[in-house]
Amino acid sequence: MKREIFDAKTRLLMRGDRRAFETMVENERLSVREFEALSTTAAARMALHAYDSSPFYLDLYSGAGFSREDVAEPRNFERLPIVTKAALREAGDSVLSTAIPSKRALVSQTGGSTGAPLRVRNDAAAPTAPMWWRIYRWWDVHPGDDMAFIYRRLRQGREALKYAVQWWPSRHIHLDARAITDEAIEDFTNRWSRVRPRLLVAYVEGATAVATHLAKSGRTLPTTAVSVTAAMLQPGQRALLESVFCAPVYDTYRSAEIPWIAAECPQHEGLHVAGDQRMVEIVDDAGRRVEPDVEGSVVVTDFSNEVYPLVRYEMGDRSRLLNGACGCGRVFPRIAPVQGRLADVIRTPSGRRITGGLSGLFLGDPEAIRQMQIVQASDYSIVIRYVATRKGEATDAAARAARALTALVGENVDVTTIEVSRIESQAGKARLVVSEAPDPH
Ligand SMILES: [Zn+2]
Repeated sequence: MKREIFDAKTRLLMRGDRRAFETMVENERLSVREFEALSTTAAARMALHAYDSSPFYLDLYSGAGFSREDVAEPRNFERLPIVTKAALREAGDSVLSTAIPSKRALVSQTGGSTGAPLRVRNDAAAPTAPMWWRIYRWWDVHPGDDMAFIYRRLRQGREALKYAVQWWPSRHIHLDARAITDEAIEDFTNRWSRVRPRLLVAYVEGATAVATHLAKSGRTLPTTAVSVTAAMLQPGQRALLESVFCAPVYDTYRSAEIPWIAAECPQHEGLHVAGDQRMVEIVDDAGRRVEPDVEGSVVVTDFSNEVYPLVRYEMGDRSRLLNGACGCGRVFPRIAPVQGRLADVIRTPSGRRITGGLSGLFLGDPEAIRQMQIVQASDYSIVIRYVATRKGEATDAAARAARALTALVGENVDVTTIEVSRIESQAGKARLVVSEAPDPH
């Protein structure tokens, strides 16, 4: 019934979104050749739009020796300069397109957990609703279904009322991820039993906190799908969430700058890029594309933000492209789950910087350790802080992780382990690496 009302509402009030949704669903089944043509054309179109109407991009591209014709040529796209967060921060409003009415610019603020916050704009005309409708469809969830959220910000008063009216008759329950107390979890659990949501959308850390509390007393909150975001999902956390919510966990990749970049399908073999809306490239330190399966820096182009163009934008995350086609048959390329941030750096006394390969620490017995964090002191020594899935029963797994890290770092750097009851997070994100070691250079 709720699904029918939702469908009727969108047919009446959101005709454009409805059409965009239908096209997006078709795009998943394009041939590889058709998809590549769509993707390269859209990327070059955005680069040209940026060159033509954003003073920041005109400067950036002409400064690097690209003429208008060069920018328009799809084959040159991968050579266009990369845009960093620092460059956007410095450029301020000169990034904005002068060709788009400013009323389409929606302010979006990135978190400050990994550096200074950055103010960007989302495009009010972007088909954002159809983007999540499509991804929910991958998980067998309808946008009109009842849902639960563990989020950072809760709506209050009039805003909450407006939200409820807009979503009627679907019911949404919320838990504030910044204030997860035992009492708040109990209240959330009671509301959950009344609503029985079909989808939980949560920050990894928030969902982990709720699941840890419920697992203590052997309770479950069954649902159809759990979608997590905003931090790397460690294998032990995934196992915990799947046992408490009795449902598959779908990792998603999204940010304040670019919503809905990629998400897992039911195959759980990497995250499909929403490839008709975004292009994801993996590049090396020189900004050149690397081969599939090689880890590098994630660079994203948003095809649907014309207000504040983000073309070859460096996210500050590390991942790799996966080779081959997915068993689900969707044509969109896949990336490995985001493994740490570029800022997650281990330093060695000789001056090496280790930014990749840390995911190898989770091999072996991933489910014995729920979560870990690598803390490096100013004398270069390293402590692996870990939360055991069952208290006191992960010493072997921790020792294996320590051996793997010792081999990776080398140079006689001391690696020890310590079991902790929890790992602190900032704004819903727990850092994988915290290093106080100086850069010898
Ligand atoms: Zn798939």
